[in-house]
Amino acid sequence: MKILLKGGTVVSGDEASLKDVLVEDEIIIGVGCDLSDENAKIVDVSGKFLFPGFIDAHTHFDLEAAGTITADDFNTGSRAALLGGTTTVIDFATQYRGESLNHAFAHWMNKAKDKASCDYGFHMAISDWNPGVAEEITDMLEMGVSSFKLYMTYDDMMVSDKQIYEVLKRLKELGGIAGVHCENSGLIKALVAEQKKLGNSGAACHPISRPAEVEAEAISRLCRIAELAEAPIIIVHLSSKLGYEEVLRARARGQKVYLETCTQYLLLDDERYKLPYPEGFKYIIAPPLRKKDDQSCLWEALAEGEIQTLSTDHCSFTLKQKLASEKDFSLVPGGMPGVQDRGVLVYSYGVKENKISLTQMCKLLSENPAKLYGAFPQKGSISEGADADIVVFDPEERGVISVKTQAYNMDYAPFEGFETCGRVNDVYLRGNKVVEDGRVIAEHGGRFLKRGGFNL
Ligand SMILES: [Zn+2]
Repeated sequence: MKILLKGGTVVSGDEASLKDVLVEDEIIIGVGCDLSDENAKIVDVSGKFLFPGFIDAHTHFDLEAAGTITADDFNTGSRAALLGGTTTVIDFATQYRGESLNHAFAHWMNKAKDKASCDYGFHMAISDWNPGVAEEITDMLEMGVSSFKLYMTYDDMMVSDKQIYEVLKRLKELGGIAGVHCENSGLIKALVAEQKKLGNSGAACHPISRPAEVEAEAISRLCRIAELAEAPIIIVHLSSKLGYEEVLRARARGQKVYLETCTQYLLLDDERYKLPYPEGFKYIIAPPLRKKDDQSCLWEALAEGEIQTLSTDHCSFTLKQKLASEKDFSLVPGGMPGVQDRGVLVYSYGVKENKISLTQMCKLLSENPAKLYGAFPQKGSISEGADADIVVFDPEERGVISVKTQAYNMDYAPFEGFETCGRVNDVYLRGNKVVEDGRVIAEHGGRFLKRGGFNL
């Protein structure tokens, strides 16, 4: 079957221009001015932006953490993703200690199978590094898992500096890349203990126990380890100006350091932790929300192209789950939802407020994650031969983010009340219309995405 999308503005990382898009089955077979095909069904998209399907390279669906499981699994999470124009997520398969990487991969494939409504890939989170696991890296690359995740904090996940160095050397040798959660575990423990000693346990303690220095120290250490390993590195969910400055230092030494930030670090700040109980607990995430100054720094870095990807770190827990810890901030499962809201928020508060351009938005949400994670130009591009993942975005519509209209399995919305410009009207996933007029019309059509080496 052929579809011809006529009259829209096709957005790429370089330009936004009026072009028609011809799709046959799952693939884009033509992009150009005044295309015609007598066998194609014509779809009028005049006045709309056509983005390559957004990629969210940082989601956690169906993850066990802090004694509970995230509210969204691949079923609800991927539906919400589609409604926000995200046609591909790269989630985190997690190797628990004692497990092989192959076991972890099979475990996560099973979680997504028959449930995912958008395409999905996995980063492999390594928590147990040993010679057998080092051998298994080859298997992962062969199966299309070309990126890995390391944690510098969380007792059950964290790896030592020695292990980080060894993993990076191995990935350098084989052509994979690692993204790292940068926070200094020891410092967090000491600062949490200080708060407890003072008798403090509210949400306001959260940013005090994980200040920007905690992130900056870990980033600086990671960059030095990567320098010695002569390996490129990705820093995930960068939140602070202090952390950013460490990256600039490493880049000035000639290192390849890629950066990701997330919507919440751009739009929410640490004043939220001062809200009366239980409000502040909703915003407990790691790293924590920062200050207005940090937000401006991150927006500028996005505009200058110094931050490559903008993800969500979607990791949702209901308020009930958040509050199960008897008002102790240090036991609250960290994370918040976001996969549905990213496109409209970035358009409303980035593009419309002239902080970034439309083409930069496309780079951050589609093109760069596809390149960095080895899926370009199959994903992240409206071009001949690419998967027909297309977002039909109406720039004129207005809305308000609300728990009442979101698709998450959630009882609150961190961005509640945020006014938005633009709306994801229709979404095509490999040529299939999966969202129509803001409603999901085709479910469970997601497919595992095999990825190659990074190329950014
Ligand atoms: Zn995460």
